[in-house]
Amino acid sequence: MENKHFLLISMPGQGHINPMFQFGKCLIHAGAGRVTFATTAHGLTQVKAFPSLENLHYASFSDGFDDGIKPTNDPHRIMAELKRVGSQTLTELLLSLSKEGNPVSYLIYTLLLPWAADVARDMSIPSVFLCILSTTAFALCYCFFEERDGVYDSNDNRPPSSIEMPGLPLFTSKDMPSFLLPNDPHASTLIPLFQHHIQALEKDSKACVLLNTSDCLEEEAIRLISNLNPIPIGPLVSYAFLDENNSTDSSCEIDLFEKSAEYSQWLNSKPKGSVVYVSFGSLAVLQKNQMEKILLGLTGTCRPFLWVIRPSAGSNDREFEEKIRDKVNEEVGLIVPWCSQMEVLTHESIGCFMMHCGWNSTLESLATGVPVLGFPQFSDQTTNAKMVEEVWRTGVRARVNEDGTLEAEEIERCLEMVMGGGQRGEEIRRNAKRWKGLTLEAVMEGGQKRKDNSEIDLFCRYPIW
Ligand code: UDP
Repeated sequence: MENKHFLLISMPGQGHINPMFQFGKCLIHAGAGRVTFATTAHGLTQVKAFPSLENLHYASFSDGFDDGIKPTNDPHRIMAELKRVGSQTLTELLLSLSKEGNPVSYLIYTLLLPWAADVARDMSIPSVFLCILSTTAFALCYCFFEERDGVYDSNDNRPPSSIEMPGLPLFTSKDMPSFLLPNDPHASTLIPLFQHHIQALEKDSKACVLLNTSDCLEEEAIRLISNLNPIPIGPLVSYAFLDENNSTDSSCEIDLFEKSAEYSQWLNSKPKGSVVYVSFGSLAVLQKNQMEKILLGLTGTCRPFLWVIRPSAGSNDREFEEKIRDKVNEEVGLIVPWCSQMEVLTHESIGCFMMHCGWNSTLESLATGVPVLGFPQFSDQTTNAKMVEEVWRTGVRARVNEDGTLEAEEIERCLEMVMGGGQRGEEIRRNAKRWKGLTLEAVMEGGQKRKDNSEIDLFCRYPIW
């Protein structure tokens, strides 16, 4: 391990970077000789501060849009450019690392970068895919292709009406990863991508896939894809905030957004379990009328709330955001552009997490024992919301109108259910506490395994290497 150099490459989304970076830290703790974390050249310029750790280095490759401006919205053209320029610049990076005396021993890549495996193969470097979606969503993709005998025809627009997975509740179309549904704008890019990953794993019995999960959280899904050689290495959540003996040092995270400095003190002034934390991750964009309804629902509950509203690019939107901000005084709530989510979730004042059910946020809610009000938007969020409500039973999924909008009354109803004194709320809070224990055990056990090198050894010694 001490003479191994791991190159980790990730797209520059916060939800991609976070688990990959946490994994990099695990490798360092397990004694890796060198870890290089790389994202796109433009992505690297967006990083607000680079955590500094011994043996950790940073690098970049190009996606063809180094100034961050994409002349097209066509996802196929963007992906083609990413593959063309990315393959070339990743090859150059691998060559230059080798030339400077730090040849890469293993390459690990996340979603949207399947061509990295070809680059690595051409240079005789072992590579492995880290799945950053929930394993349940990945397993649903697997079932989706199985049902079609591995053949996906983009002209065949049959929606999967439901998918059954042994040991889990039935997944109907509203619970599927949105990109499996025919009218989803990302279906034509993401379905072939998952098909590629799954076929590559099926074809090569020596290949394996790293999963950001643990046996206790997604046992059934892991079992279902057992022929793909799954290796659960998660949950990859920011460890420092969970370790009571550790100082909660937020420099342990890579942030692509500027964090507010206001919220810690504000949270300190609120009673235990009283605050609703509201965040929809780093990508989802809510319509203006939806934000107004959320504001109405939050103020209607008379519970304090901390709401992350990322500053948007358009000036019209910025004006609107200012208006929302002006309507909220500090007695009622606080709106911030970004925060350290793990710092917030581990604060004792937090009583509920109203969120989109992105996989990282879902894992973070489980690891901190915070009950959830789910308002999923797209991708695996719908599947994760189903797991929250029906499998772990640590929260509820809001009921939405046919057009997907959420009414203020429904927010009030759900928050009362999750945070109020009724039986369901008590059950949810009990479950959240139980899953916190189990998730922490998995994090610590994973940490211990990583310390003993066994988990990491497992995949390093896997026949592929
Ligand atoms: N996050 C954060 N501060 C915020 C909002 C989000 O640090 O104010 C982090 C959060 O902890 C999570 C990531 O951003 O790790 C979002 O990933 P997720 O998979 O939940 O959603 P995505 O952004 O990919 O939709």
